[in-house]
Amino acid sequence: MENIQSKVVIITGASSGIGQATALLLAKNGAKVVLAARREDRLKSIAEQIQQSGGSAVYVKTDVSSAGEMRNLANYAVQEYGQIDVLINNAGIMPLSFLHELKIEEWDMMVDINIKGVLYGIAAVLPKMREQKSGHIISVSSVSGYRVDPTAAVYSGTKFAVRAISEGVRQEEGPTSNIRTTIVFPGVTATELTESISNNEIKGWVDQMNHFAISPDSIARAIAFAINEPTDTSVNEMIVRPTVQP
Ligand code: NDP
Repeated sequence: MENIQSKVVIITGASSGIGQATALLLAKNGAKVVLAARREDRLKSIAEQIQQSGGSAVYVKTDVSSAGEMRNLANYAVQEYGQIDVLINNAGIMPLSFLHELKIEEWDMMVDINIKGVLYGIAAVLPKMREQKSGHIISVSSVSGYRVDPTAAVYSGTKFAVRAISEGVRQEEGPTSNIRTTIVFPGVTATELTESISNNEIKGWVDQMNHFAISPDSIARAIAFAINEPTDTSVNEMIVRPTVQP
């Protein structure tokens, strides 16, 4: 994975699950990682773990639904490391519910974090990447970015949006600014994601799928693969799901 070495990589949602696994793998391969999430204690201990193994990591407490905090995160990365090679828009929540439950606050939160968070991430890094004439924006969608299931209308809507936005970046910025884009579509992965489901019956149904969930390391390896490809090669979309997932 020699092309990962020394790359400056911002990872949102780095305090658990896929973001944490990706941070650890990239740092092990020589990336300088900039960790972002709201739970600062978790970020601190992950950064310390990386530093103790000889890697390079810093962290910034960040809420992705704030454009200002995302700008601050990107500025910190530049201040610490001088450049931004990769942004991984990974932070997300999945409070599934039936539409008729009218959980409008949860809809708003999903739109704010899963869609606006991705847009604010792009806004925060695009000027620097355009100036560099290089960069890579990776966004974590979901298999729900391809198909809709009952209880997942809003979540799926946000993940379809991630796909559209990332494809838009590819079309506008690939040819002109040499910016690569990757969308990762994970299937069922063993993380804390279902904790945001407030309807216990739905949470029970979803947790039943845990027996075939893959490790977040599987998604981290896919992300690392895309970053490690030579810069003339943009791995635009990857679906990574458990072999036995229906
Ligand atoms: P986790 O719940 O383990 O991780 C979610 C991460 O997002 C946490 O680090 C959390 O940190 C962060 N986060 C949530 N809200 C915010 C916010 N407002 N600002 C900053 N960070 C935030 O779940 P996963 O690792 O599974 O989720 C990562 C991504 O993968 C999500 O986008 C999810 O939709 C996607 N995905 C996951 C699948 C799965 O089966 N697990 C399947 C398909 C897609 P904190 O709370 O500290 O802010």
